[in-house]
Amino acid sequence: MTLLMIPGPIELSPAVLARAAQAPKSHVSPPVIEAFGQSLTQLRQVWCASDESQPFIVAGSGTLAMDMAVQNVLDPGDVALVVNTGYFSDRISAMIAQRGATVHTVAAPQPGGAPDDAQLERALEQHRPKVLFATHVDTSTGVRVDAAKLCALAKAYGALTVFDGVCATAAEELRMAQWGVDIYLTASQKAIGLPAGLALMVASPAALEARAALKHAPMMAIDFMQWLPIMRAYEARQPSYFSTPATTLIMALQIGLEEILGDQFEDERGIDARFKRHEAVATHARQRWAQLGLRSVAAPGLEANTLSALYYPEGTTPAAFLDAVKSQGVIIAGGLHPQLKAQYFRVGHMGYSTTRPDHIQATLDAVAFAVKSFQ
Ligand code: PMP
Repeated sequence: MTLLMIPGPIELSPAVLARAAQAPKSHVSPPVIEAFGQSLTQLRQVWCASDESQPFIVAGSGTLAMDMAVQNVLDPGDVALVVNTGYFSDRISAMIAQRGATVHTVAAPQPGGAPDDAQLERALEQHRPKVLFATHVDTSTGVRVDAAKLCALAKAYGALTVFDGVCATAAEELRMAQWGVDIYLTASQKAIGLPAGLALMVASPAALEARAALKHAPMMAIDFMQWLPIMRAYEARQPSYFSTPATTLIMALQIGLEEILGDQFEDERGIDARFKRHEAVATHARQRWAQLGLRSVAAPGLEANTLSALYYPEGTTPAAFLDAVKSQGVIIAGGLHPQLKAQYFRVGHMGYSTTRPDHIQATLDAVAFAVKSFQ
């Protein structure tokens, strides 16, 4: 058996796998209606979102979720500010530009860093963006931004906030209602604990108003207006049709979200247990990396809890190092950031595997084996 410990897709729980292996069901069948309706309600809980917020569950990737967010809050000509912490921040900037909106960027001084508050405030003051975009955890650098602080700054300048949570949602603390996040988006293949194939997000009432006020509608397949009646119908346990939902994945999502919300860790329950569990696993992993002399790409204090991005030790090559880890039955990932690609590797530690000490131990041991074999 090999363990898939990359930053998504990840290992899945046996119950999710069993659900995903069932024969496809009709999108108007009672079990799908129930799974869809329940999942929409549970998305609000996992997102720590208000009752007035609107969850969306759409077939697609994380990239589709990003496009959906961009196109529903920005018109061509609008101004956006992107907090750039890596590869996926570059991607959202490109999407904003493709929408015909103006993108301003505050970037980290070097990969592994994050822009400082003063830089950000200057940019907000100068550009007065309609929307601030940030990547909660950038999977290319392993950097987590301080989402609560970014929201407070953005709100002080009247900007909406959109966070790409593809490598963070259901693992890293984010309190949508309390912090004032307007769209928090993810995909199913990371800490949500499903196969790839669902684009998931929750939008605040202000984000829905921004869509309603657009002069240029988004592409139909990702338009909030098309999907709103569908989401509302399913949550009211009514069948509905605009575009065939990914029924097999939605059946599995019901199980995945139940597992997240049923979690218990130390003195916490539900999503808070999940946040704490990821933090504990990441802290343990970081201690092991330090013992092994491995250096993090993310600067101290910015390291995500969902993955570790680590420089290769001296005297190895990416292929030799990844192969050595794989020889121990564990698959990890190479680098992704264009400036550093060949200098570092990434280890995912999120979702189901954080409930399996044996998965984490096997991963730490496999990396230790590789480090020692090149010493
Ligand atoms: N944003 C982040 C932070 C990601 O990690 C990823 C995928 N690694 C994406 C967006 C894009 O998701 P997808 O590959 O499902 O399109």
